Amino acid sequence: MQLQTDPFHELPTFVTHLECGLKGDHYPAGTVQGLSKAGRPLLVKYDLGGIARSVTKGTIAERVPGLWRYREFLPVRRAENIVTLGECQTPLVRIPKLEQGAGELWIKDEGRLPTGSFKARGLCVAVSMAKELGISTIAMPTNGNAGAALAAYASRAGINTFVFCPHDTPEVNVREIAAQGARVWRVNGLINDCGRIVGQGKEAMGWFDLSTLKEPYRIEGKKTMGLELADQMGWELPDVIFYPTGGGTGLIGMWKAFQELKSIGWLTGKLPRMVAVQADGCAPIVKAFREGTQHADLWPNAHTIAAGIRVPVAVGDFLILGAVRESGGYAMSVSDQSIAEGLDEVAKQEGFLLCPEGAATYAAWKQSLAQGLIESSDRCVLFNCASGVKYPLPPADETIDCTVPIDYERFRG
Ligand SMILES: *Cc1c(COP(=O)(O)O)cnc(C)c1O
Repeated sequence: MQLQTDPFHELPTFVTHLECGLKGDHYPAGTVQGLSKAGRPLLVKYDLGGIARSVTKGTIAERVPGLWRYREFLPVRRAENIVTLGECQTPLVRIPKLEQGAGELWIKDEGRLPTGSFKARGLCVAVSMAKELGISTIAMPTNGNAGAALAAYASRAGINTFVFCPHDTPEVNVREIAAQGARVWRVNGLINDCGRIVGQGKEAMGWFDLSTLKEPYRIEGKKTMGLELADQMGWELPDVIFYPTGGGTGLIGMWKAFQELKSIGWLTGKLPRMVAVQADGCAPIVKAFREGTQHADLWPNAHTIAAGIRVPVAVGDFLILGAVRESGGYAMSVSDQSIAEGLDEVAKQEGFLLCPEGAATYAAWKQSLAQGLIESSDRCVLFNCASGVKYPLPPADETIDCTVPIDYERFRG
């Protein structure tokens, strides 16, 4: 089959079927699917040999950078179903002043994507698939960024959306969701309480439930972080990846990407150690990792300033834990104070305004170095998943009265 560069006329699809991530039983692709019979996430399976025969690293390099560059690894069958807002290849930015003489420290800045967060990757692919499958109404619980990305892509696709946020979701998120055409409500509970409203609405109203990992395609969108990272680094991955883990879509997706690339021989050598970073006030995955269990218990009274990782229970817990363990990585939590200090340090010293979740990965890197969990020669990548300007910032309220002579001495010291 002849592949076109851009626009992408015909999309060859290599999807073979869907598979329960826990039990391994199969489900047909091309029809609307939610969770597996066991109530667990479905993973998209591909004819990887077919992909390897139809595309090379060279073909990929000739295409416009961004998510659709990797279209053979994605599930959309018809190009006209692609809903895009101009997803870019996000940059890797090194922060040399803060490396402390250790190995290289890079930030992958996902805040540059449409709607200012990496949720755009997952929702770009999931909404494209919803369009392809003829879904007309979508509902979602969100801590903010996923709802914003859903609102944007769904409005563009002409799909109706109902979005439910915890009451203390950052103001800018709730407003951007509404501004981008979704109907949005604040709920006096946490994200799992919002999830329950969506689950019941699915029964009562026939909504399609686009909660994290409760349909198969957001993972595929997030998987492009792994494909892109490999591509960007010359198909040689870093030693360690620090990922702020809420529902874990990105960590699971990247690990899936690495397996797929490895199985077609595009990656050789060791894969990165995956570090799941959580906040002390909401660390179910860290607790399960320490206790050696496959599933995580619901975390009571979850709280942290990093709203995106305030997820007390994750339906894909076993997939996160599996990836972390298989990669030789670990799970670690950091305090809100170290998140705030890290955010301040990286902004003041390197001019890089992280989001709180991104700052959590920086705090975890520092803690890991101090505790000897990583080698001082390790090349590390932190994920900054959203633009720092989407979050409340500390006040800056010094003023000047321009109607009286200015005392310039005030600028000294
Ligand atoms: C959603 C989100 C996360 C967590 O991502 P998952 O892949 O669901 O674990 C982290 N940071 C920010 C800013 C987010 O919006």
